[in-house]
Amino acid sequence: MGDYRKMWQDLGLDMESHDQLLEVLPPTYHDVYLTQENRPQIMEYFDFVVNENHGLRIEELQQHKSAGGKVIGTFCVFVPEEIIRAAGGICIGLCSGIEIGAGEAEKVLPRNICPLIKSFMGFKLAKVCPYFESSDMVVGETTCDGKKKAFEILNDYVPVHVMETPHMKKDRDRKLWEEEVKDFARHIEEFTGNSISAGSLAQSVRESNDKRRALKRLSELRKRDPVVISGKDCLLIEQIAMYDDVARFTAKVNELCDELEKRLESGVGIFPAGTPRVIVTGTPMAIPNWKVPHIIESSGAVMVAEEMCTGMRYFENEVSEQGTDIDSIINNVAERYLGTNCAVFTPNTGRMERLTELVKEYRADGVIHCALSFCNPYAVEANRVEQVLRQQGIPLLKIETGYDQEDAGQLKTRVEAFVEMIKE
Ligand code: SF4
Ligand code: SF4
Repeated sequence: MGDYRKMWQDLGLDMESHDQLLEVLPPTYHDVYLTQENRPQIMEYFDFVVNENHGLRIEELQQHKSAGGKVIGTFCVFVPEEIIRAAGGICIGLCSGIEIGAGEAEKVLPRNICPLIKSFMGFKLAKVCPYFESSDMVVGETTCDGKKKAFEILNDYVPVHVMETPHMKKDRDRKLWEEEVKDFARHIEEFTGNSISAGSLAQSVRESNDKRRALKRLSELRKRDPVVISGKDCLLIEQIAMYDDVARFTAKVNELCDELEKRLESGVGIFPAGTPRVIVTGTPMAIPNWKVPHIIESSGAVMVAEEMCTGMRYFENEVSEQGTDIDSIINNVAERYLGTNCAVFTPNTGRMERLTELVKEYRADGVIHCALSFCNPYAVEANRVEQVLRQQGIPLLKIETGYDQEDAGQLKTRVEAFVEMIKE
């Protein structure tokens, strides 16, 4: 990485805490990612993006801002990125997958709150994240109570617009959500000073759909045995999808798929044929939360799909490209987002149905349900997942964990025992 210290200082980062963060990430990345053998060549691009996480991409954001553009940060896949881009903004998924600034966060939050909320508040209060410091506005949502209340506090430090997300999928919920998306579009127009036209929205819908199609193409390739790419690499790509430049990212994922298709022709796999296949489901794993995936793939199994928002839920549904006037395109956008099977919905039978379909489609030998500690929606919904999978005879391992490494040894023992069991 080049020398970006002046840029970071100008952004107002706490240089000492930021240096500590930069010291942690490269060794973790090396151990989790760079020790993998026989990785596809194009993964070099994604390694480069991670390496330049706080460098080149931030420089791009600053250039955009200098030219009068806005950067908008988000925490949830419910926030329609198409609308932000249609008004000339850049949408950045803020990560919050590492325990840093927890002490600062605990000054304004209770100790026992999910690590994701604690992490985003810690990032902001400790001034360690250049994406946060580049964000002119943050968009929150009312998906879970902890986030909903934390956004009120976050608003003391950065302007926050909160979208009211429904918790059911009845007709009246659809109407409420459509109104919220329309309100959001108006708010973004005001904030950016740019109006959204049917043409600009249709174009950003196409671009987001192209990104989703590229990710779906990658996902399809994981159905084969031997698998041609590790689940860890796919998770990384799904995490990068949320903040990289859309057109460049889409092109790189398609290049990766071209390379993987060649690998398939020659029968080259990343793990031997017959490696036990698992699907990971649960709370999204924000970058750099790679603990459980690393344990899984170093315990003799391969992740073949992620039924999470850092995974299938982010890309499997597309926005219909049929509409031509602004109202119908906005309604198409709203419709697509309401198809997300987040655990905050009740009932959330769509998630159970999708999960069992995925087990068949990806020929998975088992499912690992991973909920973040204190994440009530996923920890409670694990009961429904267990019930449905048991009825279908699908092996399940349930894990609850945070961002620290204290339980890594114990988790490894449990995952290894599960892998041994599904091998038989
Ligand atoms: S799990 Fe729910 S709240 Fe979290 S990112 Fe996904 S949709 Fe949003
Ligand atoms: S849904 Fe779970 S992980 Fe996400 S913010 Fe709420 S409690 Fe935290």
